[in-house]
Formats: sequence, C-alpha cells, structure tokens
Amino acid sequence: MTTTILIHATIIDCTGADPRPNGWVVIEDQRIKEVGQGPSGALPAKADVIDCLGQTLLPGLIDGHVHIGSVDASIVEQQRRNFTSTLVIKSLKVLQETLDQGFTTARDCGGVDAGFRQAVAEGLVPGARLSISGGILSQTGGHGDWRLATETCPPFYHGAGVVAGVFDGVSAVRRGAREQLRQGVDFVKIMAGGGAASPSDELDTSQYSLEEMEAAVFEAESAGKYVAAHCYSDRGIKLCCKAGVRTIEHGNLMTDASAQAMKESGAYLVPTMVTYLMISRMGKELGLPESFVRKINQALDKAETSLAIALAHGLKIGSGSDLLGPMQTHKGMELELQARVLGPMGALVATTKTNAEIIRRERDLGTIEAGKLADFILVKGDPLKDMSLFQNYQENLTLIIQEGNVYKNIIARGR
Ligand SMILES: [Zn+2]
Repeated sequence: MTTTILIHATIIDCTGADPRPNGWVVIEDQRIKEVGQGPSGALPAKADVIDCLGQTLLPGLIDGHVHIGSVDASIVEQQRRNFTSTLVIKSLKVLQETLDQGFTTARDCGGVDAGFRQAVAEGLVPGARLSISGGILSQTGGHGDWRLATETCPPFYHGAGVVAGVFDGVSAVRRGAREQLRQGVDFVKIMAGGGAASPSDELDTSQYSLEEMEAAVFEAESAGKYVAAHCYSDRGIKLCCKAGVRTIEHGNLMTDASAQAMKESGAYLVPTMVTYLMISRMGKELGLPESFVRKINQALDKAETSLAIALAHGLKIGSGSDLLGPMQTHKGMELELQARVLGPMGALVATTKTNAEIIRRERDLGTIEAGKLADFILVKGDPLKDMSLFQNYQENLTLIIQEGNVYKNIIARGR
C-alpha cells in the first residue's frame, strides 16, 4: 500500500463549503482515506509528504463536454482531410493536454470510442479519464450531417475524429443507439437542433421528432444509460424534455418556457461558453466558413443570458468547453466565463461536483471527501479571487494527481 499526505493546503472541497485553510489529505493507493484541518501530527509516519503551503487544493476538474477527436478547427473538413490513424494519433495529444489543464476527467460528446477510455484506464496513455458517447445520431440535414446543401452524395461516417451518422425514423434511431450501446458507450448523444459547424441548418431549429427521441431514450435507458442532446432552440429543448433526454448541451436560445420544461423533467444543462468566444475570436484566421462564425456569434450573444435564465430557474448546471482543434488548450477559460453568472464557487462546483453527477460518478469523483478517488489539482493563488488562473495552467497548476498517481509536481519551482 502507498500512502501520500498532502499538508498545509487551503482546501476547496467543491461540496460548496467554504475554503479550509491549513488542510490535509491522506491518500491510500487510489483513494482519499481522510481529510482534515489543523495540526497533522497524528498522520501516518510512513508516507510521502507533499507540502502545499500557500496554495489551493481542489478536486480534479471535470470537463463536461469535450471532443477529444477534434484535431482541426473544422470538424467537418478534418474528417475529409485526415486518415483514421492520423486522427487517432492527434487525438492522443488532445487527451493528454486535457489532463495537463487540470481536467482529470472528461466527458466526450461525440467521437472517441471505448478504446480511448480503456487506454487511459489501463495507463497505456496519459490523459483525462473518459466518459464517452461514441458516434452521434443525427437526422438528415441535421447537425451531424456534414454535407453541403449542394452535395448529393450519401452522408459520410468515419471511425475516428468527431464521429456522427445519419439515422432517420424510429427504427433507424433505435438501431443507431443500440449499435453505440453495443460498442460500450456511457451515454447516447443525439443532435436535437441546428448547430454552427454543420453547413445546412440554423441554430434556431429543432431536429428529430418526439418519437425518434423517445426511441433513443428508451434504448439508452434499457441499457442503464442516458441520452445527451445537442440543442440550442426553445422548441428543441422542450421536445427533449418531453422525450426524457437527461442532459441539454449548450442551450443558448433557452427561454423561461424551456427552462421550466427542464426544471420539470429534471434535465441538466451543460453550458459551453468558451468555444463561442474562441471561435468568434479565431474562427476567421483558422479558415472557418463565414456561416460557422455567424452562427457562433449568435450563440455567443445569448450565452450569458441563457445561463442566467437557467440559474434563475434553479436548473442543475454542469460545465463544458466544447473547444475545437487548436483552441482546445483554452479549456480553463470556461471557469472564468461561467463565474460571471454563477459566481466563482458556483463555477467550481459545476466543473466538479455537478459534472461528476452528470457522468454518474459522484460516488468516486467531483469533491474532496473520504472514500473518493484521489484526483487533485493544486493551484497557485486563490481561484475564488481570480478565476482566470486556470488559463496559465503550465505555471499555475503546480500539482496534478489522478487516482493517487502524481502526474505533475512543480511545487518546488518558484519557492
Ligand atoms: Zn460539442
């Protein structure tokens, strides 16, 4: 058995409780044995001791909406321009960079398969622990149909990168969901409304009929899993709630009426604010089409308003980045953007505790409490005073521990 003790840390445990100065944590193998505050004299003598003096200890962050397989800015073009093997190799870098940014866990909403999740779990590659949806289900002309309006070829489906396929009608949706479930996904992702990257739909549309969504939910729940839906529009959100979709991704065009529907159905909202800001800033220079940037700006415009509506209605709010390609190194900025509406502690809890509930790993992840897996980050400074510190992760994250393993330790630097 290996015992590690973290001492002299200011602990923000992300249960929502106030920070605890002079805190300590005892780690035994992969799990947290004990958490306390004050003199650490009675702690086990035979242990590795890590002194965290002057720094803040948080649970490992969880990114609730990533695309590890998004290696270029355009998820549509990258599927045409990269070999499957190249997409996989480039994805491994994104997977590791996610961990480098303090996200010990990530929920992939379309792309990587169970093999990536297994590779991290078995320690074959360094990276964020994954919860995955595999390939996304879309209707013809939906957000996962990446043909231009001028193209008449059949929709294409790739085995790597950002993966989506077209399934129309109840029986096809059923088969598509069953196929993903057969391949070991943690949840099923559907496109329930228009999106920015897809060339032939608008944000303010709904996609899939109630019956098709109900079929996806039925199949997912039959296998003990759930459905996540990409959706911006009011009409789409309402249909999702009726069908029993568990998480609404983005939700930027939400109104009081659709927020009320979410409240009644108990659905989670996973806002993804940073991707709009980054694409709005960098989209043109990264060569993204004008229609993509136009729709992104439309979503950006409503990002804070919709989050405020969600907060006012008391919705369960998680947190995701949804960043694409070279913008993926800005995941930490999501915390600062969400804090503008949720407050610093609200943004931290969304990124840890609530995201752990969303991936149904709340018994193991999301807070610093005895019995949970030992996932930690140590940050220079006080995130409650400066939520931007996650952005300079190379300098400001001085310690990253994942399941009891020290992945990064630069505490001594700068002392
Ligand atoms: Zn996404």
